[in-house]
Amino acid sequence: MEQRTQFYIGGLWVNPVAPSGNGSIEVFSPTDGALLATIPQGDAADADAAVMAARSAFAAWSATPAAERAAYLKKIQEGLKARTDEIARTITLEMGMPYKMSQRIQVGSPTASFGMYSKMLADFPFEERVGNSKVVREAVGVVVAITPWNYPLHQIAAKVAAALATGCTVVLKPSEVAPLNAFQLAEIIDAAGVPAGVFNLVTGYGPVIGEALVTHPEVDMVSFTGSTRAGTRVSELASATIKRVALELGGKSAAIILDDADFKVAVKAVIGNCYLNSGQTCTAHTRMLVPASRYDEAAKLAVEAAQAYRPGDPLAEGTTLGPLASKMQQDRVRDYIGKGIAEGAALLTGGADLPAGVNSAGYYVAPTIFGRVKPDSILAQEEIFGPVLSIITYSDEDDAVRIANGTVYGLAGGVWSASDEHAEQVARRLRTGQVEINGGPFNIYAPFGGYKQSGNGRELGKYGLEEFLEYKAMQFRPAPKA
Ligand code: NAD
Repeated sequence: MEQRTQFYIGGLWVNPVAPSGNGSIEVFSPTDGALLATIPQGDAADADAAVMAARSAFAAWSATPAAERAAYLKKIQEGLKARTDEIARTITLEMGMPYKMSQRIQVGSPTASFGMYSKMLADFPFEERVGNSKVVREAVGVVVAITPWNYPLHQIAAKVAAALATGCTVVLKPSEVAPLNAFQLAEIIDAAGVPAGVFNLVTGYGPVIGEALVTHPEVDMVSFTGSTRAGTRVSELASATIKRVALELGGKSAAIILDDADFKVAVKAVIGNCYLNSGQTCTAHTRMLVPASRYDEAAKLAVEAAQAYRPGDPLAEGTTLGPLASKMQQDRVRDYIGKGIAEGAALLTGGADLPAGVNSAGYYVAPTIFGRVKPDSILAQEEIFGPVLSIITYSDEDDAVRIANGTVYGLAGGVWSASDEHAEQVARRLRTGQVEINGGPFNIYAPFGGYKQSGNGRELGKYGLEEFLEYKAMQFRPAPKA
């Protein structure tokens, strides 16, 4: 069992401030429920120590030439790359994604984010002339990054790489459910020689150390990814000191399969999107919208695709669906399945029972599909965060757009058609931050974020850098007329 007892603050591994500590938080293996690790439980005193370290480092780091900051980011990228297998295994153990996917997504993506921001700094326009003004873009200051457990290191990198690139200093509070990868990142940042206090790591519970960070007067910005519930609380608390707040929250995304689409390809791909990471993806396409006249065909294809999944140990070869990240999440998803049945939706495959052949102490949920789901039902409105797809029928394209836009969320979506142009016409009518056209792949250079209650602000690409910058306009006197 791994025991982490220290935070990374001011360039050093330090004990919690409270003389005897505040105890530790247990991290469990989703594969079999065994105790995997313990991490320190920080409180307001630890939050203060980390924020003050970040505050002390800010003046020098924000004045460091962009090329030097880029060189540090490159070193972090290389450090992550060198430890890919080890970190992928850690993330698989702590949150359950099958190992091969973990290598590619859970470590590949954050490694690429550090590389992207290192390169982007070479010609990012930090200054421009506007008439008699010189407009400069400066780091916003001390940033608190609070992150969830589903793509733990990816979400950390989207914040930390961009913030460090702009010259901000950072205090990271990762999810207590999957925190071990954050300690590995801190080791890599330390080994890269990043100056003391530029990056700091503390761990603990959201309502304790999280809220102490969000309310701290020396923090300029909070970048939060997690549930809409916690995001609302963070916004309320941060408003007292007018902090900038960026929020990446939940979703209930729709994939619209148009009548002219190739149903065989589209249905299988939508299931793949919905079940990625056992459905614990904020952008998961959890509502599949099909023409009413094609329901039977779509339902049959969907059931075939779902039944081809192999739930099991995420470290075993051939597993395509790992367990959910926590017991709480497993209970929540099984509860939603019960609600769907009670609401009268047709359970086409899966259900609340454990899938066959898995370790019954693990947090597994069977790949599940509901048919003829009503657009305004709980199943179709609330984020379930598990391998549960709802098939909803529509009468025409206007109806499909209305259903797709008919939730409080607006994070993502997809449109499938025989022609990209036709799909694009429909995509333009969706009130969401991103839309996949015929399964177009994720792009870290494109903006990522949501409309409506899915959040505020954008991460990744140049848009992610802009989040962490303030504008300053300096007005010069026009040259006297000759
Ligand atoms: P969560 O909101 O419970 O926790 C997220 C983080 O916030 C954790 O670090 C937690 O400790 C902290 N936190 C909780 N309460 C807090 C408080 N009162 N003050 C400060 N910090 C607090 O979410 P989760 O269960 O870890 O993650 C799942 C949720 O995250 C889902 O709803 C999912 O859709 C969302 N998510 C969104 C995106 C996105 O980019 N839009 C990405 C991934 C996950």
